[in-house]
Amino acid sequence: MANPHWLFGDQLGPSFIKAGADGPARDAPVVMIESRYVFRRRRFHRAKAHLVLSAMRHRAAELGDRVTYVRADTYREGIRQAVGREPVTVHHPTSRAALRLVRSLDNVTVLPPRGFLVPQEDFAAWAGGRHTLRMEAFYHQVRRDHDLLMEGAEPAGGTWNLDHENRRPPPRGARSLGASPPYRPREDAVDEEVRRDLDRWERDGDVSFVGRDGPRAFPADRREALAALRRFLSHRLAGFGAHEDAVLADDPTMSHSLLSSSLNLGLLDPAECVEGAEGAWRAGEAALNSVEGFVRQIAGWREYVWHVYWYFGEDYRTSNALGHTGHLPDWWNELDADAVSARCVATALRQVRDTGWTHHIPRLMILGSYALQRGWDPAAVTDWFHRSFVDGYDWVMLPNVVGMSQYADGGRMTTKPYTSGGAYIDRMSDLCGPCPYHPDRRTGEDACPFTAGYWAFLHRHRDSLGRNARMSRAVRGLDRLRDLSALLEQERERAGADTPP
Ligand code: FAD
Ligand code: SF4
Repeated sequence: MANPHWLFGDQLGPSFIKAGADGPARDAPVVMIESRYVFRRRRFHRAKAHLVLSAMRHRAAELGDRVTYVRADTYREGIRQAVGREPVTVHHPTSRAALRLVRSLDNVTVLPPRGFLVPQEDFAAWAGGRHTLRMEAFYHQVRRDHDLLMEGAEPAGGTWNLDHENRRPPPRGARSLGASPPYRPREDAVDEEVRRDLDRWERDGDVSFVGRDGPRAFPADRREALAALRRFLSHRLAGFGAHEDAVLADDPTMSHSLLSSSLNLGLLDPAECVEGAEGAWRAGEAALNSVEGFVRQIAGWREYVWHVYWYFGEDYRTSNALGHTGHLPDWWNELDADAVSARCVATALRQVRDTGWTHHIPRLMILGSYALQRGWDPAAVTDWFHRSFVDGYDWVMLPNVVGMSQYADGGRMTTKPYTSGGAYIDRMSDLCGPCPYHPDRRTGEDACPFTAGYWAFLHRHRDSLGRNARMSRAVRGLDRLRDLSALLEQERERAGADTPP
């Protein structure tokens, strides 16, 4: 009889049970463990808890008699309960804590990771000896190695990067991009059971969640994930590129793929996503800027983030290059969007509260930027993103929040902090018009919290950012502000009050 194979809750697609030299034995019995302790430890978004549990239970139902599904307090207890001391295989888990756990169990053999395009050895070979690990250079290597969007040795269209075509503001006057709606699943009996369990856990006082658990909005099984991918490729990919960085208050999804949770649960393989997109370009169904933009997100950013999580080591988690120690206010922790007047923050927070998802720009240039300007503790900000987003996992949150969004790694991932004044948000969205604040004002009642916050942030880090070639000009701009003292006083008062903007 083959050794059992253990599936974590983010290893739910077919590739995680594919037999082979670096996979489980053919027809290996499968073990899955549902640990309530995970939800007890931290206050997750309820829609996230729902999605993960629904996806695990859907997978267990598909595997039928082949799976032993254990409900236990901890993974350690669960695996003992399922197999005793019998030898078990497991694919390399996605977090350092889970890897430590499986390595500490002497009956567990850890197989290589699945669900990513680039093996860890290839990343190490690419990274070894490099002074800086920039995503762009890594992405070119992935394109070459995987023959993705290539024409011989050259990138398709003669250029690697079409970002300049993909940073357009929203169409003037439009309230929506007019993209075909994204795939949305229909809930079933498994979802009903999950919702009943979550209600009961909350009633028992066992766990506490935040956010709304509306109808499930993201795929929970392979069939749904494939339907979402097909729908994106055939109806939405063509419009993906041009307005990728734009934000519209009434159109949260625009042309984004909404595939992150399916990829991160293991329901989709990145190869099928990027190959599907390339196929659409070769068939003349989508222009190169859209297809390259999408391939860059998955073959570039997603792979890069996965590898730097492991490459930068455990200490990366506690990086705090800017020495930020501020706490997250209650309105933020509670996702209390209705308490917020600043239209951009209220809009992004509302999307998180209602769905556990926003697209990249609200995460980076609204929520993340707000936290960075206020000097909140990057570890607490990372934890908040992890708990509040349906696609949040340790490996993906750490580089995205510690590195990209909070610049807490001092520039190991990005060349400068991602933050801006209100003018950027105004240019890239329709949010500022009806907002009680004004993007051009930095002092006074209607001073935009992003514009004032940007200057206060630059002032606080004047010395270190002044030495950064990409920030020094902006820092010198502080000298031209005649109202700097008033602005700093105003921001001190605002921060002290802890009230929503
Ligand atoms: P699309 O815009 O359609 O992009 C396609 C795919 O590319 C995504 O599904 C995702 O799998 C991948 N991708 C793009 N950028 C990244 C990135 N920086 N890191 C990893 N994958 C990427 N992504 C997550 O998957 N989980 C997270 O917890 C997460 N947290 C983030 C936190 C912050 C502060 C920031 C700035 C970004 C974060 N991202 C995260 C990256 C990105 O915002 C989301 O992947 C994306 O918004 C998900 O929506 P989508 O599927 O429609 O993406
Ligand atoms: Fe946000 Fe400032 Fe624009 Fe209001 S004016 S929506 S606070 S950027």
